[in-house]
Amino acid sequence: MDFSKDLICENVTATADGRLHFAGQDTVALAEQYGTPLYLMDEDRIRNRARVYRDTLRECFGDKGHALYASKACSFKRMYAIMAEEGLGVDVVSCGEMATAYKAGFPMERAYFHSNNKTDGDIEYALDCGVGCFVVDHPEELTAISTIAARRGIVQPVMLRITPGIDCHTYEAVATGKVDSKFGSAIVTGDAARITRQALDLSGVKLEGFHCHIGSQVFDASVYIATVDVMVDFLKEMQDAFGYTTEKLDIGGGFGVRYVAADPVIDIAASIREVAEYMKKKVAEVGISMPHVYMEPGRSIVADAGMTLYTVGAVKRIEGYKNYVSVDGGMSDNPRFALYGSEYTVLPAARMGAPRDMIADVVGRCCESGDIIQPDVPMPADMKRGDLVAVLTTGAYNYSMASNYNRIPRPPVVMLRDGESYLAVRRETLDDIVSLDE
Ligand SMILES: *Cc1c(COP(=O)(O)O)cnc(C)c1O
Repeated sequence: MDFSKDLICENVTATADGRLHFAGQDTVALAEQYGTPLYLMDEDRIRNRARVYRDTLRECFGDKGHALYASKACSFKRMYAIMAEEGLGVDVVSCGEMATAYKAGFPMERAYFHSNNKTDGDIEYALDCGVGCFVVDHPEELTAISTIAARRGIVQPVMLRITPGIDCHTYEAVATGKVDSKFGSAIVTGDAARITRQALDLSGVKLEGFHCHIGSQVFDASVYIATVDVMVDFLKEMQDAFGYTTEKLDIGGGFGVRYVAADPVIDIAASIREVAEYMKKKVAEVGISMPHVYMEPGRSIVADAGMTLYTVGAVKRIEGYKNYVSVDGGMSDNPRFALYGSEYTVLPAARMGAPRDMIADVVGRCCESGDIIQPDVPMPADMKRGDLVAVLTTGAYNYSMASNYNRIPRPPVVMLRDGESYLAVRRETLDDIVSLDE
């Protein structure tokens, strides 16, 4: 049996007797121990990816190179503790993410507060938590932050989110660097220069620099090179216009991961080096001093560190039409096909060697026809109730996007490390489900 299309990441293997292993551990045994649906996460892989960013940015920029983890990709206390240990900063986009980081003991001076709509309550809470830097989306928000900070007698460090106007050739829904994006202030419209002037004039904030994020699932360093090109020109303009020297430039997250065998494998370290080399050249060319450089990956740190296991409840064969394999989870734990049509590699975890001679849609248990994990999956024709199904590369934007639709409890997150497993997030109970109801 040729597993080359199945084993899309080095932490995914199969034994001779056809059992899928993840992070060196038997998925069948893990499903028995913890039940399904089940999120698994490979802690060593998470740490390894975090180190690739951290170490390569340091290698390229010395103490001016910094990696942040965009925690919206997968957020729970243990994840922030791991990032703290690995020396990364984090991006947070809500009070919920801030509270989780704070309660995990994350050093909040290394937290960057994003979001395109921070309420006054959010701003107050972030200041209470001691968030190091706010990444400001628009002028009204900037005024609000300055006012609240001034009232507290502090000066809050901020960066400004700039839209460089680059289309990263990815899905519209995740392409955010274009001029008409809901995020940030565009350079071409003059909004970016205006908000810079405003930040320099306000007394409650200290402008530390600029941020941009052009999109997600990017496989090509040239997208970042184009971004650096536009952003460094912008830094030069701000220096010429306002005498402002930028301390920090964040060029965003977004490197791609492999969901299916057809997706390319990217060498993240090599791509960062390529971008860094261009950045140094460009900075020297325009004649500004080198700022601290930040990258803020989410997906590429956690995605292929994750796998979801499900148990089949029914196989429905509609003769001459279609086959369905229904599993005990669905869009409630993985809404990404429903939202974006995202591709996934789906495997019969206990029977990897069996011929896959049935094409079926693997669907969830939610009352919604769009509740599809993945259409047209090759599966063994005799697949039946009780069989185990694995979905690969579910570490990013699965747990963090999970819902209680249909009042389905969310699965637990089990971490795998050194041949051991432990709970990072326990399974929701039916009591949890009704716990907010008066
Ligand atoms: C989502 C997001 C990221 C992370 O993107 P990935 O594709 O998960 O790497 C980084 N920065 C900002 C501002 C984001 O919104």
